[in-house]
Amino acid sequence: MTRRPWLYAATAATCLAGWSAVATAATLPASNPFAAESTLPYHAPRFDLIKDTDYQPALEQGMAEQAEEIDRIANNSEPATFENTIAAMERSGRLLDRTLETFSGVYSANTNPVLDKVQEVVGPKLSAHQDSIFLNPKLFARVQYLHARKATLGLNAEQKQALDVYYQNFVQAGAQLSDGDKAKLRDLNTRLSKLETVFQQKLLAGTKASALIVSDKAKLAGLDDAAITAALTAAKERKLDGKWLLPLQNTTQQPALESLTDRETRQALFEQSWTRVEKGGDGDTRDTIATIAQLRAQKAALFGYKNYAAYVLADQMAKTPEAVHSFIAQIVPALAAEQKREAADIQATITKSGASFQLKPWDWSYYAGQVRKARLNFDENQVKPYFELNTVLQDGVFFAANRLYGITFKRRTDIPTYNPDVMVFEVFDKDGSELGLIYFDYFQRDNKNGGAWMSNFVGQSALLGTKPVVYNVGNFTKPAQGEPALISFDDVTTMFHEFGHALHGLFAKQTYPIISGTSVARDFVEFPSQFNEHWALNATVLAHYARHYKTGAPMPASLVALLKKAATFNQGYRLGEVVSAAELDMDWHSLGADAPKQDVDVFEKSALAKMGLKTDLVPPRYRSSYFLHIWSNGYSAGYYAYLWTEMLDDDTFAWFEKNGGLTRKNGERFRDMILSRGHTQDYGPMFRAFYGKDPDIGPMLTFRGLNGSKN
Ligand SMILES: [Zn+2]
Repeated sequence: MTRRPWLYAATAATCLAGWSAVATAATLPASNPFAAESTLPYHAPRFDLIKDTDYQPALEQGMAEQAEEIDRIANNSEPATFENTIAAMERSGRLLDRTLETFSGVYSANTNPVLDKVQEVVGPKLSAHQDSIFLNPKLFARVQYLHARKATLGLNAEQKQALDVYYQNFVQAGAQLSDGDKAKLRDLNTRLSKLETVFQQKLLAGTKASALIVSDKAKLAGLDDAAITAALTAAKERKLDGKWLLPLQNTTQQPALESLTDRETRQALFEQSWTRVEKGGDGDTRDTIATIAQLRAQKAALFGYKNYAAYVLADQMAKTPEAVHSFIAQIVPALAAEQKREAADIQATITKSGASFQLKPWDWSYYAGQVRKARLNFDENQVKPYFELNTVLQDGVFFAANRLYGITFKRRTDIPTYNPDVMVFEVFDKDGSELGLIYFDYFQRDNKNGGAWMSNFVGQSALLGTKPVVYNVGNFTKPAQGEPALISFDDVTTMFHEFGHALHGLFAKQTYPIISGTSVARDFVEFPSQFNEHWALNATVLAHYARHYKTGAPMPASLVALLKKAATFNQGYRLGEVVSAAELDMDWHSLGADAPKQDVDVFEKSALAKMGLKTDLVPPRYRSSYFLHIWSNGYSAGYYAYLWTEMLDDDTFAWFEKNGGLTRKNGERFRDMILSRGHTQDYGPMFRAFYGKDPDIGPMLTFRGLNGSKN
């Protein structure tokens, strides 16, 4: 129902994506490839026919058509039934759905100025239409009527759940508020949406303006030739000829801090990052975020919640802010001890090098690298020849899925794609029947968003008679023509991760799109994906795919051991920066509606000080003033989700290990009880049914190397 930004357009996410009653659209010409359902296998998008100019008219027409459908549902003179209300909403908007799913996929992975313009024009319309549906009193009255009689309607379990989810979504969107409060809500939503855009624009500009400019090449000692050349080019692009420029990444820590040997340069780069949007004047975000926090608290109060975190968490697995706080509290003691150990190791290395200064955050990465080198003698480049992309995909990712679930794969070169780099495979179930299609778009392009993601071109639904068509997108470096793609272990992990989301989509067997496949809470959706990452290092799987691209020789056991060890290195820092960011997010969204507008510096300082962690040396991954996830990216009071799902997946993997590891029996159980269930059950009961108990944080601390047993 609501769009999930980390997965883009899952079916349920767009099935009601909004359309107002501006029924002026002309009929879509039959020549538009979206006018009719695709006749390709699995209704795969007609990338052989779609032109950039086809999207906007199809989206506009799709909104108009669905507006009429929704209007008919809301004004039906028959009493509300599940069929004429919930199922009818689920069936509505087919044109909008298929167009938007295709558009979202291509816009994220392969955009151009025409598609950018479509997004600019259609985005606000979709969002306003969504409000008009959820605040439609006649429509909500029908949903409410059904919900009150849920037990006596003769519904099956899945129908009951679909009804519950619809009801909750209407309530969360404000359908139950009085007319006066609805007006306040619309006003708050408008102000918030504007401020969130202001924040985003200030951050984009501030990040660009805070790049570090260096006039003396010697100051860049430690960077390799390629990085220095890139810095020279970056400066030239900004007309700073003869200088060097290090652009900022979105996180507090900057990759160059690992290599720069000059301490002053490190400090300057770190401070540019830390203060990127705290320089006063128009570009400063502090006043904006303090206002956002205040308005969100007011919005939560309209719904009767004590703060915004409680409002947001109501439909998540964690359910309450208290549950999140007590979860994080379980990580802190072991984490604090690890940070202390790491800081002591690093300080000893500094002293041993003959320097007399005290460790600061801008020194951490550089000296942690020195400690790792001395301890492990390990370098990422040693393993790359064993990770050839196609071998990793077919002999690793597919192999693990075959062993666990019995599924098989066949390359389909006859299915059209939006870019020649995209590969399509058909997926067959254990009995040979057709399961779905999967597209892989792994290589970096200038017109592709950063990061990696999964979503659907076609969502699974028995009601609509559709099987899943899913895709995985990455940003791996594309090799030169004819060269093999040798990727890092991080990239290998990403492939397993995104394929875990794909399995969640492919194994879906729901009737209703609203609860199908990956249409689950933010603090549950990363569970299948992070779980699937574990197979990358499984001995059987690794031996099957990690082979030298030239000789075919398996990765030497000594190197495998180093790879595994490196994975738990520097976790006091790596986990610590995420934990403190998660806490900071929760603190900002725990303010009550009566709290005054906060002084950002004072608020952040006190929030960090009370965490019981070394936040002076291990600052949060994102500072309040540049925390995009929580101020405009849909992760408000939700950044903890990455850690929460890590608890679920590590615990589940520990269960597998206890029960024989990589076996069909274990895989079938996981598929049956988790991967195929979508949101047909509440998350807690679903996990308990699988494991027989509530999730436990112990395995997560062990996998992170925080159980105190390592050197
Ligand atoms: Zn993910």
